[in-house]
Amino acid sequence: MNLIFLGAPGAGKGTQAESASNKYKIPAISTGNMLREAAKNGTEAGLKAKSFMDSGDLVPDEVVVGIIKERIALDDAKNGFILDGFPRTVKQAQALEDMGVNIDKVINIHVADERITARMSGRRVCTDCGASYHIEYKPTSSEGVCDLCKGKVALRDDDKPETVLSRLKTYHEKTAPLIDFYDKRGKLRTVEGQEQIEETTRLTFEAIDA
Ligand code: AMP
Repeated sequence: MNLIFLGAPGAGKGTQAESASNKYKIPAISTGNMLREAAKNGTEAGLKAKSFMDSGDLVPDEVVVGIIKERIALDDAKNGFILDGFPRTVKQAQALEDMGVNIDKVINIHVADERITARMSGRRVCTDCGASYHIEYKPTSSEGVCDLCKGKVALRDDDKPETVLSRLKTYHEKTAPLIDFYDKRGKLRTVEGQEQIEETTRLTFEAIDA
């Protein structure tokens, strides 16, 4: 089963992708996590990507398409995968089709812009394994420490309010057209993001299983 999780930054794609990965036993592949990891390791590509990420822009299509192509060819993705944060442009979606990848469903998690900015100030991420948390909705058991790997949990550089607005603008301009792209192909399932994470998870599983 090959799935795509679509949605504005902060809509909960990452959190829901992690839950679906556990339930369906397929890897959740997050281009954002992979790019942050590359930036942390200081690779040339990683540092270049970081300058786009920190200003709320998208990393160039050819860079992310290359990363995804290599990642989905790995053994653990042979029975399926969840793409979290890819594709983010129509060009990337077309590149995925050109690779011959069949997508079963596209789960579009919808959250209104007004709620996004409030949510993102409380969002935290593990700087080691990329697991996502929220100070209100999904706190760590011990403050600042990842429940999964004991790594350091912190605010993402690009979750500052000024960058969030720029990322939302980028989302509406470049990523939202994918809603129509996948709707036309009969793949789109929209889930309304709820206040309670578990409730969104229930609706997400329902959309996947339907
Ligand atoms: P995310 O963790 O998915 O919110 O991604 C964080 C940042 O990484 C985005 O704001 C982009 O700068 C970059 N990024 C992640 N995925 C992509 C993608 N598919 N295409 C271009 N840039 C991406």
